[in-house]
Amino acid sequence: MIVEHERWLKRKDLEYKSDFLHFAGMNLFELAKKHGTPLYVISEDIIRQRYRELKKVLNSEYENNDIHFAVKANSSLTVLKILQSEGANFDCTSRGEIFTCLAAGISPEQIIYTGNMFTNEDFEYAIKNKIMVNLDSISQLKRLIETYKRLNIPSSEYKPISFRINPEFGAGHHPHTITAGKHVKFGILEEQVVEAYTRAKNSGFSKFGIHMHIGSGIINYKDYEQPMIKFLSIIRNLREKLDISFEFIDFGGGLGIPYRPEEEPLDLEGYKNIVLRPFKEFVLSTSMGSVNFKIEPGRYLSAESGVLLTQINTIKNNGYKLFAGVDAGFNTLIRPTMYGSYHHIIPCKLSKEKNELVYDIAGPICESGDILGKERKLPELSENDYLAIMDAGAYGYVMSSQYNSRPRPAEVLLTQGKDVLIRKPETHDDLIKNQLIPDHLK
Ligand SMILES: *Cc1c(COP(=O)(O)O)cnc(C)c1O
Repeated sequence: MIVEHERWLKRKDLEYKSDFLHFAGMNLFELAKKHGTPLYVISEDIIRQRYRELKKVLNSEYENNDIHFAVKANSSLTVLKILQSEGANFDCTSRGEIFTCLAAGISPEQIIYTGNMFTNEDFEYAIKNKIMVNLDSISQLKRLIETYKRLNIPSSEYKPISFRINPEFGAGHHPHTITAGKHVKFGILEEQVVEAYTRAKNSGFSKFGIHMHIGSGIINYKDYEQPMIKFLSIIRNLREKLDISFEFIDFGGGLGIPYRPEEEPLDLEGYKNIVLRPFKEFVLSTSMGSVNFKIEPGRYLSAESGVLLTQINTIKNNGYKLFAGVDAGFNTLIRPTMYGSYHHIIPCKLSKEKNELVYDIAGPICESGDILGKERKLPELSENDYLAIMDAGAYGYVMSSQYNSRPRPAEVLLTQGKDVLIRKPETHDDLIKNQLIPDHLK
């Protein structure tokens, strides 16, 4: 089983050396023993590699481009700092993500705030911190302008304005992550686009951007083709009607990764040909001058940089089925339960002489849905063994919870042959620290 996947593992910097699984050159069995489990392990190298390979492909076609890391995929300060040092920009979905970016030393010009269902407090926070917002409805424009006025900011100091367009063609790994189509809550539809920008222009905005994000977990680049055609035709129409130029055009994120051993990585050259090339031709044909090309990948940059280590505590054969019970559950990594997502799971120590058996890898949460891997063929497992759950660096820790009153785990960074604690594990005190007991129960 393992040998045929060697090439696939190697891409993720995972390799068995004398039967011990190594990540970024470090022995995961030893790391699990040293730090305890569950444990999130992040490889600095993988983040840098993914950023560089993507940047190189974009640069090869069109140099005026920015990659905005979607902070919601992994908002660890260390991950943000690594990406910042590579020259990345950032896309935030909330005030909290902006706060985290600023705490990591990222400057406001590098951030786009692509919120959804913005409140006036959100606008005030963005304006005070000099952060550009990417609006999600026409009604929000009115409130944004009111907020600028309330803060006594003249229109000459308005940040560029951008709207998220819903191009009606979406894609993604699960219906919940497909973010375009008439029935989804995101963006504005074609019929309202001219009105949105007319109002923005009439309200004193003089710099414009435009945005789409069609969904998440797209492994086939061809899924971008239809939305691209639609999006560019909307922009062309807008330009003809309103005579506005764009500082930037943002094509969103969504770039997928190969979660399954039989999957090939996203074809970046194909992506370039279907997204970047038509953009470039479009820009040339409209004589808009130099327009900044933006994308906002989250998963692509961070998913493969993370491995979740977990220890088996219980092997159970109920007469029908074998279960390997582990100490990570959907409180630690929710994707398998929430989306039915596949995360490859492999042992930290290989025992080649053992027979392969089929296990459900089950967490400790009191719900039958707490299964991290269904019907996985693995060399016979024993209690106390460690397992590595792969590709947990995006939508992993950020989606964890304290459900069942289990504190969240620690995070460790692997860098230049060292393991560095970057997030302490929560303690039982963290479970109750914000709670107050009413007087009559004291
Ligand atoms: C979630 C999201 C992204 C990132 O999605 P990935 O699939 O992780 O690349 C980018 N832009 C917006 C607006 C998003 O909501």
